[in-house]
Amino acid sequence: MTDDFDVAIIGYGPVGATLANLLARQSLRVLVLDQFDRAYTLPRATHLDGEAVRILQSAGLGEMLVSHLGVYPRMRFEDANGALLIDWPRSTLPGSHGWRDSNRFHQPELEIALRARAAASPSIALRLGWRVTAITQDDGAAIIEATDPDGSTARFTAAFAVGCDGARSTVRQALGAELEVLAKPEQWLVTDLILNDDAPSLPGGTVQYCDPARPFTYIEAVGRRRRWEVMLLPGDDPALFATPDHVRSLLRRWLAPKDAELERAVVYTFNSAIATRWRNGRLLVAGDAAHQTPPFLGQGLCAGLRDAANLAWKLAWVLDGRGALSLLDSYQTELRPHVAHYITEANRIGAIIQERDPARARARDAMLLTQPQVLVPIRPRLGGNEGTDALAGTLAPQPRLRDGQMLDDAAGPRFIVLSRTGLPGQVSDETKARWARTDAAILEGEAADYLDAIGAEAVVIRPDHYILGVARSAAELDKVTQAIPLAAG
Ligand SMILES: Cc1cc2nc3c(=O)[nH]c(=O)nc-3n(C[C@H](O)[C@H](O)[C@H](O)COP(=O)(O)OP(=O)(O)OC[C@H]3O[C@@H](n4cnc5c(N)ncnc54)[C@H](O)[C@@H]3O)c2cc1C
Repeated sequence: MTDDFDVAIIGYGPVGATLANLLARQSLRVLVLDQFDRAYTLPRATHLDGEAVRILQSAGLGEMLVSHLGVYPRMRFEDANGALLIDWPRSTLPGSHGWRDSNRFHQPELEIALRARAAASPSIALRLGWRVTAITQDDGAAIIEATDPDGSTARFTAAFAVGCDGARSTVRQALGAELEVLAKPEQWLVTDLILNDDAPSLPGGTVQYCDPARPFTYIEAVGRRRRWEVMLLPGDDPALFATPDHVRSLLRRWLAPKDAELERAVVYTFNSAIATRWRNGRLLVAGDAAHQTPPFLGQGLCAGLRDAANLAWKLAWVLDGRGALSLLDSYQTELRPHVAHYITEANRIGAIIQERDPARARARDAMLLTQPQVLVPIRPRLGGNEGTDALAGTLAPQPRLRDGQMLDDAAGPRFIVLSRTGLPGQVSDETKARWARTDAAILEGEAADYLDAIGAEAVVIRPDHYILGVARSAAELDKVTQAIPLAAG
């Protein structure tokens, strides 16, 4: 059987749309199917970390993001009396990724921009309004059956199919995965309001109201949008909870009805779960289809974008023969433990916020008021790097080069050898041949401050911005180059 496409993406949410753009940048023939013909109009995510923004820059959205991202100043945790329990200040300046480490954004604007870019790409075919009903595979291809808006069915084939089809993923089921539950799900009301001009002033950033009588989260979203998340307690009726009158009564300590327009109120179940398999042959899952986290760290979409970045270069390598099929095994090996760190940390923070027992909440407050905590972002390492150089599997920074370009823009979707001047000329012929096969970008005499800071002569960076290895000599650079996962031959 011949395949119609290199990669079929099921689901045109933010993860599917990012993956489509990253694959198109490598000239792959991409099919995207979604059951709906337009992007979801209401935001879910409000926060993106610097790594996520950097991935979107790689997907071609750099210029758009400059004008659409807002500063995310801090997250405060308060007890029932408003005393500060935990502070989490964020820098308002660009961090190591070339972008701020924490950003506010409006998800529908991002999705529209991702879709506009994909629609303009000659290598992406869109089938919107098509619901995927079955996915199978044979030795040569993934086979996708879908129903169009008129109810007729069609079959598509692709070398690989990636399910970016959300928490209730059809593709996850098709590849035989279960969901491993990491913590008890909780129900929260999520309500967005748009402030009127004369609304009272509200806090900046995010506030976690750790009140055992009723935990609340307040989020300063972009523009005049503000979000409240309200934990449902035993006996609360989710349908009643989300009615406009009830929402207004819940928010009356902040706003009167005349102060804001209610945009939406939905009760969500905050799940903590990871798929037991992320790949079976030619079928893969990414984004919420592969993992779900409570939103206390603002990491669900960020994790999905990391999946897209990890898969984009590996799929391209397997398709053009640079990588063996087994390269795709490292997708789950690397990212499953990585996302599990974030979910575990979100649950640790969630347990502080969601404490409902008054005695335990008092003990928590007493401890935190005497020993105030300041949170910092966690930066897990990719799985599979145990026993290697301490920096292997960690994120490389994105410095500006001497000509002012950002590193990722200069290199494109390639491996990078970032090196002191002269070192690349001292490596073995085999290393030079591997760099040529890899199509690596060799950047000599750049980022000297960074190399000084890590005490290195060179660093090899993967297309998804993670460090493959660090070298202090030409011989070490030969060794790191051997770890580039080129197929034999
Ligand atoms: C209240 C809340 C707050 C959040 N805050 C943050 C935050 O601040 N930061 C953050 O990083 N993340 C956050 N998240 C998580 C983030 O919103 C999600 O992780 C992200 O939107 C998931 O994107 P996705 O593309 O994987 O899936 P989705 O956006 O769910 O997209 C899946 C797509 O697949 C399509 N689809 C499904 N089945 C089929 C089928 N059979 N055929 C065709 N199409 C199909 C759907 O129509 C949909 O378009 C939050 C989530 C919630 C609920």
